[in-house]
Amino acid sequence: MAIESSAARSKRPRRELKDPSPLLSPERSAQESAPGREDSLRPRRLNDYIGQAELKQVLGIAVQAASARGDALDHVLLYGPPGLGKTTMALVLAEELGVPCRITSAPALERPRDIVGLLVNLQPRELLFIDEIHRLTRVAEELLYPAMEDRRLDLTVGKGSTARTRTLDLPPFTLVGATTKAGSLSSPLRDRFGLLQRLEFYGQEDLEAIVERAAGLLGLSLSAHGCTEIARRCRGTPRIANRLLRRVRDVASVRAVSVNGGSTPPDGSVLIDADLVDEALSLHRVDGRGLDASDRRLLELLLQSHGGGPVGLDTLAAALGEDATTLETVVEPYLLQLGFLQRTPRGRVVTVAGRRHLGWPAVGEPTVKDPAVEDPAA
Ligand code: ADP
Repeated sequence: MAIESSAARSKRPRRELKDPSPLLSPERSAQESAPGREDSLRPRRLNDYIGQAELKQVLGIAVQAASARGDALDHVLLYGPPGLGKTTMALVLAEELGVPCRITSAPALERPRDIVGLLVNLQPRELLFIDEIHRLTRVAEELLYPAMEDRRLDLTVGKGSTARTRTLDLPPFTLVGATTKAGSLSSPLRDRFGLLQRLEFYGQEDLEAIVERAAGLLGLSLSAHGCTEIARRCRGTPRIANRLLRRVRDVASVRAVSVNGGSTPPDGSVLIDADLVDEALSLHRVDGRGLDASDRRLLELLLQSHGGGPVGLDTLAAALGEDATTLETVVEPYLLQLGFLQRTPRGRVVTVAGRRHLGWPAVGEPTVKDPAVEDPAA
């Protein structure tokens, strides 16, 4: 990998950091938000839902108990980073309970009549899934409190001195709320959930199982090593794993067409091995541990200009032409999770593992960078 001077670096377009690779973003893309797009790969039953053992165990028992009583499941709050399976779990719960699931998100419930309309149309034991529940308006929250607690909807009819409160009884129902920011939820709302469950990033073994399952559903032939390589690059997140798999499939399809003399053979006719995964994802500048150009740029800046740190967040942000909050919330978390970066009271420090990954010697070793470490961004 070529070592660039910091002067050359500062001429780089600043968009790179502000617009982190959409391929590695855990958020749902516009395309994935289209109805039905993500559904083809979603597990439908608890047994197909891979990983999250504790979550499955707790919810599995709650579903069995609720079904045995013929009652609605207690309200459930699922929290954790995007792309880990919160929406999927809500759909799985509905399937296990044998009830329909209505899906909405807090920004779609801005006006009081939006949430009133949803609540008055609920069927007995139905499941109502509200994504990004921390973004509910105060009025919507206040309508939800008695609905969740006493299955009651308090409506104010009329205005001023003629205003009256009317109460409607609601059928038993289950609210499943999902949030990436559990801390932003008001405590009265949080306290009304009977089951609060955190989703964790997935380990390598579970990710391999997720990739293998998705490849099977897409009709791809994926080697065990190819599967391992995709799982290693997906930042612990099934949504990213599925997205990387689709990009690898594109390259495999193009390869199949050229092998087949220009006509399109079915998916699965080219074996996707580790080399093909590497080639396909290098095209998108995703390296062997799932780092993108922004991640590598931050580590390289720390190493080249500051001997690996410690460097304060604001100094780093200024040098990269980025705002400190974006660095802290978008770029750093995965580097911290991998153990490539550390936050110390004196600033950010690249760890030995981070140095090694970028081909730098550990502190105390000769300071020549290993030229054998390729930079897919170069
Ligand atoms: P969230 O709601 O947390 O943002 P989703 O439930 O929409 O995430 O999951 C994103 C995608 O990841 C789904 O389409 C699904 O295919 C896949 N996925 C999530 N969790 C799992 C899992 N435990 N097993 C298999 N696939 C999963």
